[in-house]
Amino acid sequence: MATLHTMGQQQDRRSWAEPFKIKVVEPLRTTTHGEREKAIREAGYNTFLLHSSDVYIDLLTDSGTSAMSDRQWAGMMMGDEAYAGSSNFYRLEATIRKFYGYKYIVPTHQGRGAENLLSQSAIKPGDHVPGNMYFTTTRFHQEHAGATFHDVIIDEAHDTTSLHPFKGDIDLGKLQALIDRVGAKKIPYVCMAATVNMAGGQPISMGNARAVRALCDKHGIKIYLDATRAVENALFIQEREEGYASRTLAEILLEFCSYSDGATMSGKKDHLVNIGGWLATNDKDLFEEARNLVVVYEGLHTYGGMAGRDMEAMAIGIEESVNVDYIKSRVGQIRYLGELLDQWKIPFVKPVGGHAIFLDARRFYPHVPQDAFPAQTLAAELYLDSGIRSMERGIVSAGRDPATGDHRRPKLELTRLTIPRRVYTQAHMDVVAESVKACYDHRDGVKGLDMVYEPKYLRFFQARFERR
Ligand SMILES: *Cc1c(COP(=O)(O)O)cnc(C)c1O
Repeated sequence: MATLHTMGQQQDRRSWAEPFKIKVVEPLRTTTHGEREKAIREAGYNTFLLHSSDVYIDLLTDSGTSAMSDRQWAGMMMGDEAYAGSSNFYRLEATIRKFYGYKYIVPTHQGRGAENLLSQSAIKPGDHVPGNMYFTTTRFHQEHAGATFHDVIIDEAHDTTSLHPFKGDIDLGKLQALIDRVGAKKIPYVCMAATVNMAGGQPISMGNARAVRALCDKHGIKIYLDATRAVENALFIQEREEGYASRTLAEILLEFCSYSDGATMSGKKDHLVNIGGWLATNDKDLFEEARNLVVVYEGLHTYGGMAGRDMEAMAIGIEESVNVDYIKSRVGQIRYLGELLDQWKIPFVKPVGGHAIFLDARRFYPHVPQDAFPAQTLAAELYLDSGIRSMERGIVSAGRDPATGDHRRPKLELTRLTIPRRVYTQAHMDVVAESVKACYDHRDGVKGLDMVYEPKYLRFFQARFERR
């Protein structure tokens, strides 16, 4: 077992025990090995295609899988389902302004809806968008609008063993080089994510955000934040960056957002709700354009694809999300899982990030070539072992280069164990760790997968595989 003195920044158990108790429970079903063998074969060895009724502990994603609080459920009863001008929208708008500081808000059904509106409003064909590593849907919308994406994250982010405290930082040299090469006029905005999902939930520092702002100001380039996990990012700043230990998460969040011109948000993560998102901006013209487009793609500008009750639950979730005891318990739970894996020397991305453990499939299966999809293979093996569902974040997720048509081959070949918010217990984390160890003990016999069906867009969602 992990001992308390290995708890890193946590002084004692109480410092990260959940600041809530359980009021409603949902039964979990266990399955036999035979049932899982059949289920994963029918799912084409893609965990996205499993039925959730065949899953025991579901760590596919932390997106929309949070448990809502009693206050949020009470808020659901306060839904004002007026088509136009719902009072829940105005409450949500005021809450986003208060905690994120942006002037104009456009509600959307989820994060990618906001990405679509931003990309269509800001990007012209032939533009270039730099970002601190890509996110699947974000880059898709940028490319779909005619831009070329450029990864300008620091090199440490691509090294699963680097202990850099802010592996999400933007490399100012890489950003400057891109500006020199294509010209500032061809860069509508820098896409800055906090925390960086694909790098392993790694944070970006306040100092870096400030420096990126200064550089962009020099060239008249805007910055749009992917604020999906910016509250979790705020905890890392409070813990690791000088001068922030005594600042509240809300203060840190507000300062962080002040270095950007707007944000896209997947409310399904930080906001502790099951659906919803928004686009925010301080730019009146972009707001006008996005507010015109939202009625085409999402819904009227006072609901954007959400029901009134969803907006109420989101407003309450935002207030709850900046509670430091809550965020400490969330990140503490993930660190606990990391400690268990560490004692068996199982390779994963370090330092542990904000929302998940990312197993390093390259080092897990060094004998499986990247074209045999090691991270996809590990996700399938883990499911077979115990019914735990995880997700590939490697060559399958990276897709193909639109210019050459070849696989993009990312340095990171990861299997993500994503922890839903307020859902699972410490005992579940023990089970997860034991199952990963069982897969690790049997790693030598594993050969990898072949892709037998490949969708055109965001292939990781629906691709199918067969065992080698
Ligand atoms: C989930 C996610 C998105 C997309 O949001 P959806 O609500 O799933 O559409 C964008 N960026 C990041 C970093 C995410 O994790």
